[in-house]
Amino acid sequence: MKLTILGFNSAIPKKKSAPTAQLLEISNRHFLIDCGEGTQVQLRKAKAKFSKINHIFISHLHGDHVFGLIGLISTLQLLGKETPLWIFGPKGIQDFIMNQLRHTQSNCSFKLNFKELSSNESELIFEDDKVEVYTIPLNHRIYTNGYLFKEKKKPRKLNIDAVKKYPEIETCDYQNLKNGRDFELSNGAIIPNESLTFPPEKSLSYAFCSDTRYKPDIVPIIENVDLLYHEATFLEDLKEMADYTGHSTAKEAATIAREAKVGKLILGHFSNRYKNPVVLLEEAQKVFENTSIPHRLQVFQMDEAKVLS
Ligand SMILES: [Zn+2]
Repeated sequence: MKLTILGFNSAIPKKKSAPTAQLLEISNRHFLIDCGEGTQVQLRKAKAKFSKINHIFISHLHGDHVFGLIGLISTLQLLGKETPLWIFGPKGIQDFIMNQLRHTQSNCSFKLNFKELSSNESELIFEDDKVEVYTIPLNHRIYTNGYLFKEKKKPRKLNIDAVKKYPEIETCDYQNLKNGRDFELSNGAIIPNESLTFPPEKSLSYAFCSDTRYKPDIVPIIENVDLLYHEATFLEDLKEMADYTGHSTAKEAATIAREAKVGKLILGHFSNRYKNPVVLLEEAQKVFENTSIPHRLQVFQMDEAKVLS
């Protein structure tokens, strides 16, 4: 699993940073999360393969999370994309995009599918054989969801040396063994699965939470995720401002991470008033030590044991 931070600043795009957008590579799927202005340029800088992006998840319809979408769609069309593109986002996103396509007389070369969201409960919105994606209902000034990406349980790994001891086990039996089944010999003896296989690789998970007021009821949804991105727009001394504008403080983001027992926390969406966001990092680390602030185009790679960056 690999997360590329394409942009993480709030409100205004700046010379050296970009508004919210992330590319998550999970079980060979390429998911784009939010699409602030200039995201396609950030994707180029990250050397991402545009053709692999078939699913885009938009948290909410504030401009710094969505103004890059029409430009990206236009570019995908110019690149001759043929596979369908799925866009998940709040109710209204279809109208927002289709109006722009209509007024610019753009014809999409590929099928554009929308899944509009309006529920205030967490729901499963995408599933294939390897990955599930759930919404994380957030509390912002307008309807907003975070997203939880989870690898499904992976197959067990064959202990090929152990398997070879039994000539009766053929290659066509391997899938059953990987699925956890015991093997029955022709004499009726049962070989337990654990003696023929190793445990599966850990299934990894990532939660994206932006923008939101402090919302402790998301903790059960994101419990034990390997990696959490949580917005931290303000320091705790501006908590009133955070509440008023629908955002969180660094201390609150870290409290969510601690309560949810996540592996690692990444902060973002910092107010432009902080010239050096290390102050937000320091506040968060007092509550949850394994916290990072990203740098431009930073990649967080996750393996079985931990998050590497
Ligand atoms: Zn917002």
